[in-house]
Amino acid sequence: MRTKLVAGNWKLHKTVAEARALVEELSVRLRGLGGRRAEVAVMPPFTALWAVREACSAAGLQLGAQDVHWEEQGAFTGEVSAKMLRDVGCQYVIVGHSERRAMFGDTPENVGKKAAAVLGAGLVPIICVGETLAERERGETMAVVRAQLEAAVAPVTAGDAPTIVIAYEPVWAIGTGKNAETYQAQEVHEHIRGLLRSAFGEGVTDAIRILYGGSVKPSNAGDLMSAPDIDGALVGGASLSADSFAGIVAAAENRP
Ligand code: PEP
Repeated sequence: MRTKLVAGNWKLHKTVAEARALVEELSVRLRGLGGRRAEVAVMPPFTALWAVREACSAAGLQLGAQDVHWEEQGAFTGEVSAKMLRDVGCQYVIVGHSERRAMFGDTPENVGKKAAAVLGAGLVPIICVGETLAERERGETMAVVRAQLEAAVAPVTAGDAPTIVIAYEPVWAIGTGKNAETYQAQEVHEHIRGLLRSAFGEGVTDAIRILYGGSVKPSNAGDLMSAPDIDGALVGGASLSADSFAGIVAAAENRP
């Protein structure tokens, strides 16, 4: 049985004060759920990581970052390393988000280097893959996901593989309010699990969590996460309010 993971990607939102307030509010809402079974993580912008670290830990929330550079240190102006992210209290790091791929030059190979650097620092990469609407309409979804996934996990050893997290995020569903239907997501998740099985074998693959991301909200989260290969959610917009994010966590735990 894989423990569900609900992760909130705050993107370019929240000052330090706002981030503190959101974690406080979230901690109250999650306490209201009683003992929690799902794992919950938040990914604030770099500038707020240190400020929310203690409040997250007190609330039983994991902390993550939204991106990383693959080098540990050096002349890479503007970049942050996995070692630095571990130093500020992160456990998770998103790599290969479609916004980074589309707007900031992340190539499939670079995403693999980032995943390896994150694992090398003892952290867990959340590796994002997903097709655009045009690719889906051309019937290329499975091939696109395969190419992105294979490049991203190429440097991952079988020893590290059980800890990695994959997020299937169809680009057409991100921030659009239009989520993939559960059967569409499950189809791709099953494909991803098959690819992981070929790369790492059965036992290892059984442990790997595959999240769905793309317009997840309290009203669709329960249905999506009831599919056999959907092990949680990567949430953008709905993670910016404690109410909606806690609603998604409740759905992951199958609670009213
Ligand atoms: C995301 O960007 O990772 C995401 C899933 O965004 P949203 O939930 O807003 O679609």
